[in-house]
Amino acid sequence: MKIDAIEIYRLAVPIIGYYKTAFARAECFNSILVKLISGKNYGWGEAAPWGFPGFCGECDITAYQVAKTFIAPLLLGQDIETGKALQQKLAGIKENNFAKAAFDLAWWDLYAKEQKTPLWKLIGGDNDEAEGGAAIGALDSIDLLMEEVQKVVDAGYPRIKLKYCPGWELEMLRALRKNFPNVIIHIDCNSAYTLADLDMFKKLDACNLAMIEQPLMHDDLLDHAVLQSKIGTPICLDESITSADKARKAIQLKACKWINIKHGRVGGITNALLIHDICKISNIPCWIGSMGESAIGYAFSLALATLPNIKYPSDILPSSRYYKKDLGYPVLQNPVPGKFIAFPVPGIGVEPDPEMLECVTVEKTFVRRD
Ligand SMILES: [Mg+2]
Repeated sequence: MKIDAIEIYRLAVPIIGYYKTAFARAECFNSILVKLISGKNYGWGEAAPWGFPGFCGECDITAYQVAKTFIAPLLLGQDIETGKALQQKLAGIKENNFAKAAFDLAWWDLYAKEQKTPLWKLIGGDNDEAEGGAAIGALDSIDLLMEEVQKVVDAGYPRIKLKYCPGWELEMLRALRKNFPNVIIHIDCNSAYTLADLDMFKKLDACNLAMIEQPLMHDDLLDHAVLQSKIGTPICLDESITSADKARKAIQLKACKWINIKHGRVGGITNALLIHDICKISNIPCWIGSMGESAIGYAFSLALATLPNIKYPSDILPSSRYYKKDLGYPVLQNPVPGKFIAFPVPGIGVEPDPEMLECVTVEKTFVRRD
């Protein structure tokens, strides 16, 4: 597939309310959107590193600059037949995985359309359905949290993920467990702690958590291995797993019992599939994480969530959780809370709503080969 033209957009998409993690409080989700055009076909990709380099070293501003200055010139006019070939062309650029992911995703959407196959089927999904869980950020009070949890429990979500950070810790969790002793819950620390907090993590063993997501430094494996050896609750790595090689090392070190795969964090679908396969042969179950993408990014998450080694509900949320109007159209099929069905059309089946794209674009670049 020859890449004839590329469009790159930097976006700020307003969300309902706010979403607070250990590293930032967001009132809009900042992302980049890439369109790869080949002949009459095109594919869309979205990567959402947020508007502040707190999850990793990237944010929307760096991703946009790297995308237009370094990545687009490497791909424009090139004939790219596989995801691996695309990644090889970008191998000289170190890190910047979110920027790379937007192109890798767009390539997979384009490729699946050329193959006239839904993406989930093309990458080896079991069927067109996947489970999505609820996610609740840090809130201003425990009373507010109880209300939010009651809502998602009543709606029937299969599990709840809670953001967990200094000031929003054991007291919150113990209160929650008192009211909801049997709900499947895990916490996400977004790398807010160190081994000096070992006693607190030991106390969490009594809270019956499904897992603790990324408790320690964003790029650490070794301290996670030490922590995992001292607590009973399984550790799930997120930020630390940026490549298939990091996944292999984490498994070898016994740094975790779960891995959360995010297409943005790992540079796209190509690397997400490699990580999925390494985990599968190593008996490390996975689920799919998210960064608060629109229905475009979530459509890729849904395709990944249909893979055979996805063993826990993924971070795929209904559009109405964050958006009055989603950038992506149509929004994902979500017949009952916690269940999503991929579209039976070639590619991901979702693209930006032109009016919304106009509204949320901060800056854009278009390039075309001569
Ligand atoms: Mg996480």
